[in-house]
Amino acid sequence: MKYQSTRGGSIVSASQAIVKGLAPDGGLYVPASIPVIDDLMALCNLSYQERAVQVLSRFLTDFTAEEVKKCVQSAYTAEKFGSEAIAPLHKLDDYAQVLELWHGPTCAFKDMALQILPHLLITSMRKNGITEEVTILVATSGDTGKAALEGFKDVTGTRIIVFFPENGVSRMQRLQMVTQEGKNVGVAAVRGNFDDAQNGVKSIFTDDSFNRELKERGYVLSSANSINWGRLVPQIVYYLSAWATMVKNGEITPDEKINVTVPTGNFGNILAAYYAGKMGMPLGKLICASNANDVLTDFIHTGEYNRNRAFHLTMSPSMDILISSNLERFLYDMEGQDAESVSAYMQSLKESGKYQIRQETFVKMQDCLWAGSCDDTETLAVIRDTKDKYGYVVDTHTAVALGVYEKYKKVTGDTSKTVIASTASPYKFGKSVLAALGGNTETDDFSMLQEIKEKSGFAIPVSLWELQNKEERFKTVCAPDEMREAVRKML
Ligand SMILES: *Cc1c(COP(=O)(O)O)cnc(C)c1O
Repeated sequence: MKYQSTRGGSIVSASQAIVKGLAPDGGLYVPASIPVIDDLMALCNLSYQERAVQVLSRFLTDFTAEEVKKCVQSAYTAEKFGSEAIAPLHKLDDYAQVLELWHGPTCAFKDMALQILPHLLITSMRKNGITEEVTILVATSGDTGKAALEGFKDVTGTRIIVFFPENGVSRMQRLQMVTQEGKNVGVAAVRGNFDDAQNGVKSIFTDDSFNRELKERGYVLSSANSINWGRLVPQIVYYLSAWATMVKNGEITPDEKINVTVPTGNFGNILAAYYAGKMGMPLGKLICASNANDVLTDFIHTGEYNRNRAFHLTMSPSMDILISSNLERFLYDMEGQDAESVSAYMQSLKESGKYQIRQETFVKMQDCLWAGSCDDTETLAVIRDTKDKYGYVVDTHTAVALGVYEKYKKVTGDTSKTVIASTASPYKFGKSVLAALGGNTETDDFSMLQEIKEKSGFAIPVSLWELQNKEERFKTVCAPDEMREAVRKML
């Protein structure tokens, strides 16, 4: 299977798409067509790992069967994800099934992709004759950095260095990073905000002489960016897997359409659900849920994408985004793979911060998507109501999804079975969750963990609880212009 850029140029293999990340013309790599699984029912009796092999091997066609299997087995173990289910379903009522994507090492859904990406990346590099050690550089505002550290930790042939803004992450997030274990990891705080750290990393990536120096020492830089195809394709697996589990358990009949609701930021997770539909999963509506940063909601209602608006800091920070990069892949498909229109939209976005899609495309989009948003006040109410009604505690991002799903049901009357993507453990955003449930938010982080346990009944994730006893390994604090030197030292 060949991959092409959403802006028209560049035909590459799957492994090349993963190595390159972004296409040279600035577009994103997409497969020439989405493969259909003819015998979906065969997935029902497979394990999560076996389902993942079935899905991934159809996209990663220049990987051998053995290579795909090895990548999957290294990533999705019961040890790392708490059970063989990997991404278990929790039935809320006759309509809604919550797909818990947060049982991985860092308690958030980024693990679903970042646990396997290092293996896909290393396999892809070796396949393309790249023999240097891959050095992943990440600037993080919190969760992605930790998920990347856990994913790359002790993976042979890789190094990972994470920069976080000194005063721009929570105490818990900082502790998670500076106590990181592993022989190939490095972490440094940057004096400044997230943009300073991000710009520092970008300038290192584009510094030719520094890159030459690293190459001579046997290193090549790469990123674990969310637009990499290697992060998207593993996300398709859990939707097909959820469908197969529901069929197997008699919750749905094999040809019964299901809806999927996704709390959306960069549009990666919801795009994976769309692709699962194209692979054959009977899909009704895709329900796109946003917080107060509701640029996608407006886009789906009007056909105009307009990022010229206030940016809100919300209690679902992983969705505080005004430019959803992966939307470009969706548009490409909606436009019948017309790279010219996509390029024109993206050019307009760059120049004026907005674009209007064609009427035909708008109609097509409305047919498969529904959108809504929840602000912070509504989010807190959803957390409280979900606990009262079902005895089930959700995090702030999942609450946005549940709140928008309730609006959807009210407006449309559609009672089809619906999968709700749950993207973080309530422990991960404990303070807001406790505030919603009337708990004490003035105590220390670890007392809060204990209180969430009492309220939710979920076991405290060992990885969070043990932070109080862990040694702080990484003490480097550097200025943005000292980041190169920090990289040199850590390598
Ligand atoms: C990243 C993230 C999201 C947004 O997912 P996208 O794929 O960027 O749309 C939602 N919730 C949580 C907890 C996340 O970490």
